[in-house]
This record gives sequence, structure tokens and C-alpha cells, in this order.
Amino acid sequence: MPRIAYVNGRYVPQRSAMVHIEDRGYQFADGIYEVCVVVNGDYWDMEGHLARMQRSLGELQMAAPMDMSALKVVMAEVVRRNRLKNALVYMQVTRGVAPRNHQFPAAGTEPSLVITARRFDFNASDAKASKGIAVISQPDIRWGRVDIKTVGLLPNALAKEAAAKAGAAEALLVRDGVVTECSASNAWIVDKTGAIVTHPKTNQILGGITRQTAIACAEELQIKVIERPFTLEEAKAAPEAFLTSATSFVMPIVSIDGARIGAGKPGPVALRLREAYKARAARG
Ligand code: PMP
Repeated sequence: MPRIAYVNGRYVPQRSAMVHIEDRGYQFADGIYEVCVVVNGDYWDMEGHLARMQRSLGELQMAAPMDMSALKVVMAEVVRRNRLKNALVYMQVTRGVAPRNHQFPAAGTEPSLVITARRFDFNASDAKASKGIAVISQPDIRWGRVDIKTVGLLPNALAKEAAAKAGAAEALLVRDGVVTECSASNAWIVDKTGAIVTHPKTNQILGGITRQTAIACAEELQIKVIERPFTLEEAKAAPEAFLTSATSFVMPIVSIDGARIGAGKPGPVALRLREAYKARAARG
């Protein structure tokens, strides 16, 4: 069955779906995106993802392609047309098509909206979490507004590629000795008291929706949450480390730059939080 994408008002076979060569997303990375997962037909954390999408659009003074209730209908239709029960839904909005010029195009230029969906392997994620993942550190060379979820992801792609070449699953991004986040997820450590620590929500990280839900879960579990910067050295010496994202949920980290974290296997705090996140996300 061919995959179906939504492209500017039409549902089209993905292999023949196209955008214009003067789309500003293509020429300037002048666009934003969101990714959320559907598990057993239910969107996880959908309201959070749509709220962040609206914020990203607002920060870039970009018009929304449709209101959020219409967007939910289109998202559901893309999942339905692809006959998916467990899906990863990708949405991208750009400032639209205009003759190449750095300045914004004329008011009234239609934003472009693309939505795709692909199968999400829930069991593979659990299998990965039961082993934990290796990560490496990479310099954080991104711009100063990574709190906006733009499609300008070249530094993230370079970091992820370096990780893959080193046989690791993710890259911890380090600026001035501090771990900001990962190439496509938020970074956490567990401190010696059992509290969980993550970088504060500033312009230097993407405010993850999973991060936000994980904080709520930790509070329910009476795990102390500390939002403060931590260094790479501190992470390497931590009893546990993990990352969060919509597609990884809570994923234990078992080594950093080849050095074992804790006992070199997924830690109890990360595993408890993962179960709590899944239970909470499933409740909606
Ligand atoms: N940081 C970055 C750089 C990301 O790309 C992502 C994934 N979109 C995250 C953090 C995690 O965000 P979320 O939990 O909303 O998926």
C-alpha cells in the first residue's frame, strides 16, 4: 500500500508528493515542525505538541496554515489513510513559496503544510530501553534560538551522524562544558541523592513535550526534579543518565564516550520513569 501524505490541501501518494523549489523551507530552513506518536490509535501528548507548534509559529511571526482543530482532523486522516495503529506523525509548516529574497514574502503568502505518517515500532523501543543506549559528546554549535522547533537541523544532523559513526545512538551536545541536550532529545542525569537533573528551559534547549510530561510523572512518583545546568564530567560520574523525546519516551543511557554509566545497565530511576511516562501518556 503506498504511503499517503497531506500536502497543501491534498492527500497524495508520498512518492509523488512535491514542494516548490522556491519554498522558503527549502531555501532558508524558514519553517517549523512537530513530531508526535500515536499508540494503539491514541495520540500521546498531542495538546502539548500543538501548543509548542503554535509557539514556534508565533516566535517566527509565521501564519498558522489552519486552526488547530482542523489540523487535528487532518492528522487523524493521514493516520487513517495510512492504516496505522502505531504511528509517528510528522508535520511541517514553512513560510510558503516566494521569489528568493531573505526578507519575508508579501503578507498573504500561503504557508506550506505537509503531514506524513509512518509506522512506529512500540516493541522495538521497549527492547532498546531494556538494554539502554550508548551516547557520545559533541560540541553544541547551534544558533541561539533552539527553543524554536525549526527545520534548521544541520548541526543536529552532524552530531547524530558522528554518533552513528562511533556506534552510538545519540549525541550529548556540550556548550562551555555544559550538556544542553541531545541532537534530537533532552538529556537528564540522576544525582547522588536520587534527584533527576535536566537543563533549565531556556533558549539553549528545545522545551521537550516529553520532558514536561516526565517532570509531571516524576512529581507523581515523588522523585525530586532539579532544573539546572550540569557538566559532561558530572554526567559521566552520575549513577544514571537518560534522555527523553516523543519517539524514545524515557531512554536509559548506559555509556557516554565509551565510559560506563553506573552499573552499565539501565538504572532503576530511568526505568520507573519510563513506565510512569507510558502509563500517563496512554491515559491521555
Ligand atoms: N531536543 C531536540 C533538539 C529535539 O529535536 C527533540 C525532539 N523533537 C527534543 C529535544 C525532545 O522533544 P519532544 O519530547 O517534544 O519530542
